[in-house]
Amino acid sequence: MIQTIRGFRDILPGDTALWQTIEKTASQLFEDFGFQEIRLPVIEKTELFARSIGEVTDIVEKEMYTFPDRKGTNITLRPEATASVVRSYIQHKMYAADPIKKLYTIGPMFRRERPQKGRYRQFYQINAEVFGISSPFIDAQLILMLNELFKRLGLTDLTAHINSLGCPECRPTFHQALLDFLTKKKDRLCSNCTRRMDKNPLRTLDCKVPECREALKEAPTTLDHLCGGCSDHFDTVKTTLEKQGVDFIVDKTLVRGLDYYSRTAFEIQTTALGAQSAVAGGGRYDALVKELDGPEMPAIGFAIGFDRLAEVMEQLKGPGKVKAPDLFIIPLGERAMEKAYLWSSKLNLKGVRSETDYAGKSLKALMKRADKLGAGHVLIAGDKELDENALVLRDMKTRDQTTVPSDDPIDNIIKILTDKGTIRD
Ligand SMILES: [Zn+2]
Ligand SMILES: [Zn+2]
Repeated sequence: MIQTIRGFRDILPGDTALWQTIEKTASQLFEDFGFQEIRLPVIEKTELFARSIGEVTDIVEKEMYTFPDRKGTNITLRPEATASVVRSYIQHKMYAADPIKKLYTIGPMFRRERPQKGRYRQFYQINAEVFGISSPFIDAQLILMLNELFKRLGLTDLTAHINSLGCPECRPTFHQALLDFLTKKKDRLCSNCTRRMDKNPLRTLDCKVPECREALKEAPTTLDHLCGGCSDHFDTVKTTLEKQGVDFIVDKTLVRGLDYYSRTAFEIQTTALGAQSAVAGGGRYDALVKELDGPEMPAIGFAIGFDRLAEVMEQLKGPGKVKAPDLFIIPLGERAMEKAYLWSSKLNLKGVRSETDYAGKSLKALMKRADKLGAGHVLIAGDKELDENALVLRDMKTRDQTTVPSDDPIDNIIKILTDKGTIRD
């Protein structure tokens, strides 16, 4: 038997019902805020991620699925979406007519992380990115929109964590302060951190090794080194969130795992799965469009971890449900079988979830099957019912029975089911 590759999984019908709810709720809300959907390839040139995410990161160093294609070009299964959205924005000169673009995309990402419960090597994200607006209002708006999405999905127990990571103007002084601090603590840091500290000292701040975390507790923070512009920007984000009634915590330790962020960084965290974990995160990346050979262009975005969000929702609301048929047609005998099939298809075309039997089973067996499927009604069509031009329509819940003529059952069935309100959406 061939099975999925380690770290990969199938998302089965019960789960997809829940996933569809999330997708619909998100796209509806995002479109109300002026976002448009784009769909991107899952494979890109390796260079795109090396240049955008940063060479000295866990993702690029250890986790990417990179391989040469048959002509020898290095290609990578995308580990995140922002780089691809930026690439697309630049490639199609989306800035030409109007630099402001609000884009969202939903799809799979790939990282070769250590497989563990709730973590997959193919995982899904909903991404939203805004180009061309440097105002802190848009930072607040993205956090407001995320907050609203989770509210609509029935999630409670969420906190927005926000931080400012500074800009090219104020970052050098922060880097120097951090480097001085790290040099003093060098012998207490793991080999990964000591190797990275010169090239990318910021990365040490999200090292997972407990000894490093302990040693870095007193490390200098970006907030202590913000320039005037960054400081004003962050203040406006905070006061705007307050005015819009969005709760948040200023979290000086929030650095996000990627190189391209500047100024506002944020995460929406939950404790619904026990330990504190992020269901969404993002930030401003004002330098990235230019770094990837586009024009100077402010930008900000976020990613929602779809798999974790679905897990949280399942925890709170129970598993998603496979949709049950509105009607199960029970044909008894050769003559009824063809009619049942034709009626059932006709009902499907008219938006009724109808099923029937194709194997000539007994009434008892088919009643059992209809029950198991959770069908709202059954329609019994045997020789006797056909001869008498009176099919039996039975409500599976109330056990009420009515008859419908066999020469024209479709409209009658639709009318009865609609009147009872049992045709579900
Ligand atoms: Zn600054
Ligand atoms: Zn470390």
